[in-house]
Amino acid sequence: MAPVLTLVSSLAYLALFCLSSAAPPDINKKTYEYIVVGSGPGGGPLAANLARAGHSVLLLEAGEDQTENLNVSQWVNFNAAGNDPATRWDFFVKHSDDAAREARYLHRTWKKADGSFYVGTDPPTGAKPLGIYYPRAGTLGGCAMHNGCLTMNPNDVDWNDIAETTGDESWSAENMRKYLVKLEKAHYNSSYVHGHDGWLDTTMLDSGYAGFEDARELTTLAAQAAGYKTSDTISLLARDMNGNQANRDNLVGPFGGVSHINPNGRRSSPGYYVRDTVAENKFPLTLSLDTLATKIIFKSTGTAPRKKAAGVEYLQGKSLYSADPRSNANITGRPGKVYASREVIISGGAFNTPQLLLLSGIGPRKQLEKFKIPVIADLPGVGQQVADNYEAGILSLAKRDVNVGHNIFPNFFKSSVGKIRDIYMWCGNFAFEGFWPGFPNIPEKNFTGDYGPREYECALVHMNPRSQAGTIELQSTNPRDVPAINLNFFKNGAEQDLTAILEGVKWVRSWLSKVNASETDSLAPFQEKHPCEGTIGKQNCTAAAQKTYIKEQAYSHHASSSARIGADDDRFAVLDSEFKVRKVVGLRVVDASSFPKVPGAFPVLPTMMISEKATDVILEGLADEQWTKD
Ligand SMILES: Cc1cc2nc3c(=O)[nH]c(=O)nc-3n(C[C@H](O)[C@H](O)[C@H](O)COP(=O)(O)OP(=O)(O)OC[C@H]3O[C@@H](n4cnc5c(N)ncnc54)[C@H](O)[C@@H]3O)c2cc1C
Repeated sequence: MAPVLTLVSSLAYLALFCLSSAAPPDINKKTYEYIVVGSGPGGGPLAANLARAGHSVLLLEAGEDQTENLNVSQWVNFNAAGNDPATRWDFFVKHSDDAAREARYLHRTWKKADGSFYVGTDPPTGAKPLGIYYPRAGTLGGCAMHNGCLTMNPNDVDWNDIAETTGDESWSAENMRKYLVKLEKAHYNSSYVHGHDGWLDTTMLDSGYAGFEDARELTTLAAQAAGYKTSDTISLLARDMNGNQANRDNLVGPFGGVSHINPNGRRSSPGYYVRDTVAENKFPLTLSLDTLATKIIFKSTGTAPRKKAAGVEYLQGKSLYSADPRSNANITGRPGKVYASREVIISGGAFNTPQLLLLSGIGPRKQLEKFKIPVIADLPGVGQQVADNYEAGILSLAKRDVNVGHNIFPNFFKSSVGKIRDIYMWCGNFAFEGFWPGFPNIPEKNFTGDYGPREYECALVHMNPRSQAGTIELQSTNPRDVPAINLNFFKNGAEQDLTAILEGVKWVRSWLSKVNASETDSLAPFQEKHPCEGTIGKQNCTAAAQKTYIKEQAYSHHASSSARIGADDDRFAVLDSEFKVRKVVGLRVVDASSFPKVPGAFPVLPTMMISEKATDVILEGLADEQWTKD
């Protein structure tokens, strides 16, 4: 069956390719019911769903259609996808205002005089510091086209908290689950209810248990360390992290990992859903690729004090945004204006959504006035209190080659400072220590992205860190420029967050140190490289030294909450619980920016789920003509 599906999908693509490789459509001065800006997990499904429901939709996407680029379509190539100039947008961020701390970041990026990058702490003369690399994708389907495909419904409390703070019960975890079931086409066995007719293929990854003795030994030790019996290991590794188990937020230990790929390893994502919706040629969806939205157009609403979003100004042309590595000042775009009779929906992702709002006069008054942008709505939360998960790892080298294949096993851990499980980790024969241009390779250091076949890492994600103090602010009024981003890591609650991460690291050490070193051909002893160099079980690093290492070398790629939902009395709430931008009409934000905090360990599935929720909210609200016609 799978090859037939692939053939149908490819034929549909060929039909579309003729369109997408052509110049973007003429949309100037046209009117659609809905305009959606950005085709990632937030905007893509929403645009396709509204069109499938019969509404005319214009989807603006700054990038190209790279859905059949093998780096993108084959999930195993995700590192190549992340580095592909045809899809990537390069952002450079700060983790703090502490210049000395920033300088100690081991993978800081610099631009050399010849235009190439240097990665490290000892730059050549004349190199200009760029900051800490933060990958994004500017392409049809957004970051879901180059991400690692980990697919995780967050802890129930993440959804329930939104219901509680806004008083909108439709955000309860129980209700939100219906959107997971609706969008997924699950290809794995589970005793929980799943969807099998949706647009997103989901597949459970192999833990390697059946095929690799090393995988059996390591996963069994991890299961034991989590308090389970040896005989439980196989069933733990098939545990569904997207099931609706009672008390799931407290379930720890090994799980099966779920990915948004089909069983043949082909990536599934909003990019394909949008592409195929257009290719079916029977829904009123207009996709305008290579189109950068530059400003939201507002009009007065008669006697109403609030302005209404009436359309979007844009530039059409390739590689217009300066984060696109192919961009240069000589490329000029074709400007235009396009109108929405009902709503404008912004889904540009956690960095670009606040930028577009700010450019349009929605944001903190002081910042808008600094750039002489007329204030449409003074909303102090735009680009403020930005959240991100902290990531770190425990990387070591076994005594001999680790034979677990390409398999990983995921695991949840609850630290002593977490109310519920607060660390997610995945372990395997890899080295993942952050992002930099060219990751995981650093040519000038002759580092080829791994420490060889003896490497073994558990990469840790600290869910819901206490500090949510990131800022995204304009550097200029040129919509092609990137904004200034400071994630302000560990600004608040640092001690507790560092304790949580270090406990996760120590927990991994606890079971790696149980690998029997006296057995012939043992993996042990493991030599840890980070965060505490030395033989596991015999190291001599203080907790303080390890926390300093983690604090200075933590990385991230789950930015969210830059235009977030919140309660009516929360002055930093940009959106209400129906994604409506406060103080204006006809404008919503639906993407990772919308979350009050980072959902769970990985944001892509929750972002697709809120895209489905927004579809429901918008369609159900059509009767409420007052809001859009105000
Ligand atoms: C390298 C990497 C690996 C990741 N791995 C995982 C993972 O394994 N699992 C997981 O859950 N999450 C992962 N993530 C995070 C996840 O992919 C993102 O959180 C998610 O894609 C966010 O969706 P979004 O719709 O908010 O924004 P995005 O995915 O960023 O999409 C925004 C889209 O809007 C377009 N756009 C922006 N501005 C404009 C404009 N002005 N005009 C027109 N178009 C515009 C962009 O081109 C882009 O296509 C990863 C992210 C990265 C970068």
